[in-house]
Amino acid sequence: MPETRVFAIANQKGGVGKTTTTINLAACLASAGRKTLVIDLDPQSNTTTGFGVDPHRVGLSIYELLVNDAVKVGDVLKTDLRPNLSLLPAKVDLYAADIELVYLDQREFRLKRILESVRGQFDFVLIDCPPSLGLLTVNALTAANGVILPLQCEYFALEGMQQLLNTIRLVRDRLNPNVSLFGVVLTMYDPRTRLAAEVVDEITQHFPREKFETLIPRNVRLSEAPSFGLTILEHDQRSPGALAYSKLAEEVIARAAATEDTHA
Ligand code: ATP
Ligand code: MG
Repeated sequence: MPETRVFAIANQKGGVGKTTTTINLAACLASAGRKTLVIDLDPQSNTTTGFGVDPHRVGLSIYELLVNDAVKVGDVLKTDLRPNLSLLPAKVDLYAADIELVYLDQREFRLKRILESVRGQFDFVLIDCPPSLGLLTVNALTAANGVILPLQCEYFALEGMQQLLNTIRLVRDRLNPNVSLFGVVLTMYDPRTRLAAEVVDEITQHFPREKFETLIPRNVRLSEAPSFGLTILEHDQRSPGALAYSKLAEEVIARAAATEDTHA
């Protein structure tokens, strides 16, 4: 049986497409028949909302799981999100976790421990990280075997990258030898501008092996979908955004299979 692949969708820069990528890549992996778990690790709870789940009504959430040993994954896991799709939802309490975790035992390993009890049930786990490099993101990197890095096609896309790459290296050296940069996905690509082409060139030079072929276009359907609580496949299956995320899912599946042995 292929092993579960756990990806942290991370970039400490805000608004680069982490949540949009988490929701729609997960939807496309699930639609391709892969059992997928989404973990909303961002107190903004945009992934939770984006799937049409009201964070005010989730009851127990990833926050309680992280800070309270008495809470079990089964108490929080929503297995009926969509076919092949489960969710560990977030709510605004999670803002407190970055501070509370500091005082807990094994503070960097809390999410890894949570995952251990369920990971065998899934082919893919996608963790939507907050726009920071605090303990929540460190927990995601410690639990993951790969990072998927969304970069917005704009000037300064690579600004701040060194801190993120350093954080990944630190986590690899001290907490999780398995974690590495699995892929870089370019988001909000506008083929009409020369700037976009230049940014693509620059990122290709920086990440020749990691960059995915698929470019996620700027597409209004992608930005509308979460306001209806829908994935792009449900909102407009024929939109350029839906086609792009489906292609990205194929690339992720192929790359995961190609690198399987190295993660055994
Ligand atoms: P944060 O750091 O705040 O968590 P994020 O990195 O998760 O942000 P998103 O929330 O996915 O970024 O995207 C930021 C904004 O850009 C959102 O309004 C989203 O709808 C929009 N957006 C993301 N990707 C696209 C796209 N390909 N086309 C059009 N709009 C997009
Ligand atoms: Mg987000």
